[in-house]
Amino acid sequence: MDLSYPVSVVGQATPISVHVRDPRGIRGGIAYVEQNGTQYRVWELTKPSNLPDGTWSFTAGVGTTPQLKDGKAKLVVEATSNDMLRRTGRYEHEVTVVTRPPTVSVDSDQHYLYLGMADLVTFNTSGTWTAAGVRVGDQTFRAWPMPGGKPGYFSLFAFAWNMPTSTVPNVFASTGAGNDVTSPINIQFPKKEQPVYTVHDLQISDHFIQKVDGELDPNGSGDPLTRFVRINNEMRKANNKVLSDLRFKTADKFLWSQPFARQAHSQAEATFADVRNYIYQGKKIDQQVHLGYDLAVTERIGVEASNDGRVVYAAPLGIYGNCIVVDHGYGLQTIYGHLSQINVHEGDMVKRGQAMGLSGQTGMAGGDHIHFAMQLDGVQIDPKEWWDRHWIKDHIARRVELPGFTN
Ligand SMILES: [Zn+2]
Repeated sequence: MDLSYPVSVVGQATPISVHVRDPRGIRGGIAYVEQNGTQYRVWELTKPSNLPDGTWSFTAGVGTTPQLKDGKAKLVVEATSNDMLRRTGRYEHEVTVVTRPPTVSVDSDQHYLYLGMADLVTFNTSGTWTAAGVRVGDQTFRAWPMPGGKPGYFSLFAFAWNMPTSTVPNVFASTGAGNDVTSPINIQFPKKEQPVYTVHDLQISDHFIQKVDGELDPNGSGDPLTRFVRINNEMRKANNKVLSDLRFKTADKFLWSQPFARQAHSQAEATFADVRNYIYQGKKIDQQVHLGYDLAVTERIGVEASNDGRVVYAAPLGIYGNCIVVDHGYGLQTIYGHLSQINVHEGDMVKRGQAMGLSGQTGMAGGDHIHFAMQLDGVQIDPKEWWDRHWIKDHIARRVELPGFTN
């Protein structure tokens, strides 16, 4: 016995379809919703069947069972076989009862948004929901309870570097398929002040291709250039997926209380969302967008944690070479690539400015530097705002309680 399609929420009159199988057919069947120790019958089989397969379709919900309350409940289905022993099969499924659709009310702030950057929205909800947060296009940013025991929720969200500028971010509360309520965030998108991404030609030498192929795809097939382009595309995509999935390894509190720090005395050789044309022997062989800062100091410089946090990744990661990812809470994470040496382990707590390893040129790097990047709920963003105390005060600390930024 199983559900023909998944049901996680029971509303006014939620259609439920149960598939039953018994070689001798079914003599009796009953379905009920069980909540706080009470069983409410929602359906009963009226005609026994000799068929081995059957589908029972009925509705369950507050419309016919007004005693149900918002919260957890159990859907229980029992079937009695036609066979001599009159065996009974039982199926149980956890559901959430939602007596009325949730509502969301979003703060009335003007949210100034910039391509590739972040902001914070606060909101209140009523009713029951199973997921809430901010949706920007096809990207979702989680909601968190307000820190400090205050009522309501907040979401840190990003407006990705490649998001169409007409996209309106919405706060949503969802009770499962087709039961979303949304409310738009009051945004300002200052056209003149949006970042303009620059395009660079990157000359690729045979020496560099050999280095990258040999290190990242030593037993690969195809000619060296094909292998290089494959690494630059397929491996890059796979590596970015690994980074993005680290969003689930995040603390549900701020682990930091100062602005993020940029590697001391570093020179930026590349910045966020630079478009790179890869040129080999005068021909463009590839194009990629560089989603971080390339920070150079001297060879094998100590790689400094940008802020307090917890190491959630410390291992080789394809094009990023030896790579460290530090979680700072609420889905905000910093990424450090191309290290020659890693001196921390997954799970370690690190302090702002702490050396976590040595810079290098592992992965797809042509010289010693640190690839420094930041992501918010798995979406890579421009770190520059997070280096700025004033911006953090204005966009984050003004709206939620953030230690170290209270005055
Ligand atoms: Zn880089």
